[in-house]
Amino acid sequence: MIEVEHLTKYYGQTPAIRDVSFTVERGEVLGFLGPNGAGKTTTMRILTCFIPATSGTVRVGGFDVFTQSLEVRKRIGYLPERVPIYKDMTVDCYLDFVARLKGVPSRSRKTKIDEVKTNCGLHDVSGRIIGKLSRGYTQRVGLAQALLNDPEVLILDEPTVGLDPKQIVEIRNLIRSLAGKRTIILSTHILPEVSMICDSVAIINEGRIVAKDSISNLHTGRQMRITLGVNGPPEKVVAAISSVEGVGKVAELQRTATGVRLDVSFKPGADPRPGISALVVGSGWELIELRPEGLSLEDIFIRATAEEGEVEQ
Ligand code: ADP
Repeated sequence: MIEVEHLTKYYGQTPAIRDVSFTVERGEVLGFLGPNGAGKTTTMRILTCFIPATSGTVRVGGFDVFTQSLEVRKRIGYLPERVPIYKDMTVDCYLDFVARLKGVPSRSRKTKIDEVKTNCGLHDVSGRIIGKLSRGYTQRVGLAQALLNDPEVLILDEPTVGLDPKQIVEIRNLIRSLAGKRTIILSTHILPEVSMICDSVAIINEGRIVAKDSISNLHTGRQMRITLGVNGPPEKVVAAISSVEGVGKVAELQRTATGVRLDVSFKPGADPRPGISALVVGSGWELIELRPEGLSLEDIFIRATAEEGEVEQ
């Protein structure tokens, strides 16, 4: 649904994003994760036809954002980090205004506005002045305006920034409920948000994509550690396990009455579990625990961004 190829953007002499490529399938919810200043907003502004790229291409639903921007705009709903909302309008007036701007035909305008108000839980505040609403409700109005043209693609830039914990939960649930038939890109610097809302994640750091995978693959596909429990003499067990091919670091977690529990990490791409179990049994010890430990998204993020320098939080 979205194909980004070799996208580069310079602001003057400064590169904001460099050679960014990724794809988003129809119906996928992609978390666009990166520290502040990584290039998330820049990428989203290009995707939504707000600014041109220096080089590279983006296609949305097969249409090019540079040469067919009208077609792309029809298909996209955009919630920028700061929504351009007219604070002295009522919710109804504002939604009607945006619906006209987006060319929603007059015969279906009222139905469409009603529908987005239902989706975003706005009926109770229809007549209220937007400037008097809480930040959580203002964000819902922002989402509602993005949905007015019934877009196939939703681009949400840091949708929960500035909300209190209760509002954050509400907005996350709302976004989840909008997924399904829509393709969503959601930028955030909040790691748990990605695990909670998204199917996949692209990690961007200093303007470059450093990882892109499904959440489940990221958690299990890079499983490189186990917790290992062995009944046997601790020092000998540690030395023997450390010498198994494919084993990286071995750290002692706990001494038990009869043996030891270890944290064993694997060398990249290796799976030394068969070697470990053969060694333990062959030495006459007992294997009592061998539990894979998936990497947390935080581990993955830190590993992915570490090579590029300090991680801002
Ligand atoms: P993020 O959304 O991940 O915080 P941005 O896309 O806003 O990152 O910014 C990426 C880089 O581009 C940053 O170094 C930022 O300072 C720079 N930048 C963003 N907008 C502009 C602009 N209008 N002019 C100059 N530099 C900019």
